[in-house]
Amino acid sequence: MASDENSTVFETKDDSAKTPDAKKTKFDVIIIGAGPSGYTAGIYCSRAGYDTLILSGILPGGQLVNTTEVENYPGFENGIMGPDLMIDMRKQSQRMGTTIIDDEVVNVDFRRNPFKVLTASEEYEGRAVIIATGANPRKIGLEGEQTFAGKGVSYCATCDGPFFRNQEIVVVGGGDSAIEEATFLTKFATTVHLVHRREELRASKVMQERALNNEKIKFHWNSELVDIKGDQKVQQAILKNLKTNEETAIDAGGIFVAIGHEPNTKLFKNQIDLNENGYIILKNKTHTNIEGVFAAGDVHDTDYRQAVTAAAYGCMAAIDVDKYLTESKDKQE
Ligand code: NAP
Repeated sequence: MASDENSTVFETKDDSAKTPDAKKTKFDVIIIGAGPSGYTAGIYCSRAGYDTLILSGILPGGQLVNTTEVENYPGFENGIMGPDLMIDMRKQSQRMGTTIIDDEVVNVDFRRNPFKVLTASEEYEGRAVIIATGANPRKIGLEGEQTFAGKGVSYCATCDGPFFRNQEIVVVGGGDSAIEEATFLTKFATTVHLVHRREELRASKVMQERALNNEKIKFHWNSELVDIKGDQKVQQAILKNLKTNEETAIDAGGIFVAIGHEPNTKLFKNQIDLNENGYIILKNKTHTNIEGVFAAGDVHDTDYRQAVTAAAYGCMAAIDVDKYLTESKDKQE
C-alpha cells in the first residue's frame, strides 16, 4: 500500500464514477456500509490495488446525511454540509476504483473463505470483509424529533453544541452519554436542562457528582420530553412530570437526545462476537473473531462516535486488510 506521507502525487484511476458491472460478483474486499468508515476503507483498499466492493445499503452516507453543517471535520475551513461530505467521500472512493452498489445486505456467511455477502438479488464473494454498518442513535419517537432533526434536535453534543451558544439547551437521558453531553454543553448554554424519566441516574458515580455539582445543569427528575415546538427551528421543549402530570415549557434552542445507540449488527449476530449491547468486539486492532473479517467505525466504537474517528477506523481496517491479504497470499505461495 502506498503511504500518504511518501507520495507527492495523488494517484487516481479514473475521474468518472464507473457503472457497476452487474455480472461481477467476486471481489478482493467487500465493505458493508457507506458512512465515513466504509468510504474511507474503500478509498484505501482500492488505492492499494484491491478489487473493492462497497454494498452501501439503500440510504448511503450513514448518520451524516441527516446532519446539516459539519464544522469539525478537518480540511473544511468554513465547514461542510454533512450530505455533501458524504457525496465527496463516495466520489473519491469511486475515483480510486471502488465499485459501489446501493443495495442492502440481507445475509452473510463467514464460515469459510471466500466469505459470502448476500443481497436480495445477488450473492457476492470477498476474500476479506470490512463491516462498517455503523450505529443509530435511539429515538424518543416524538413527531417533532423528525421535523426538527438538524434544526435544533441533535444526537451529538460534540458535533452541534457550539451552534447553541447563550441559549437554553435540553438534554434527554440519564446514562453516561447524557451526563457527559450535558456537562460539555454547559460551555455554551446559559442553562442545560437534564430531563430523566426516573429520579436516579444510570451514569457512573463520578460523572453524576460532577454534573450534580455543576450550577449550570438543572435536573428535571421523573420527567419526559413530550413535545417540541418551533417554526423553522426548535423554540420550545414541553416537559411532563410523570408523577404530577404537570407540563412545563422551556424556551430552548437545542434539544439533545442521549438515550443510547443501536449498533447495526443484527445480520452478524450468530457469526461475529458482539458485546451485551450488540457492538462488535474487536480482538486485535480492527480484527473480529473471524480471521479475514474486520470492523470499522461506530459499529464497534462506543466512545468517540465522530465522523473523523469513523473515517480513521476505516483507514485502519483497510491497512489491516492489506496485511491479511498479503500474508494469506504469501502462505499460498
Ligand atoms: P445507556 O447507558 O443505555 O443510558 C441510556 C439512558 O437513556 C438511561 O438513563 C435510560 O433511562 C434513558 N432512556 C432510554 N430510553 C429512553 C426513552 N425512550 N426515553 C427516555 N429516556 C430513555 O446509554 P449511554 O448513556 O449512551 O451509554 C452507553 C454505554 O456507553 C454505557 O455503557 C456507558 O457507560 C458508555 N459510555 C461511557 C462514557 C464514559 O465513560 N465517558 C460516555 C458515554 C457512554 P433509564 O436509566 O431509566 O433506563
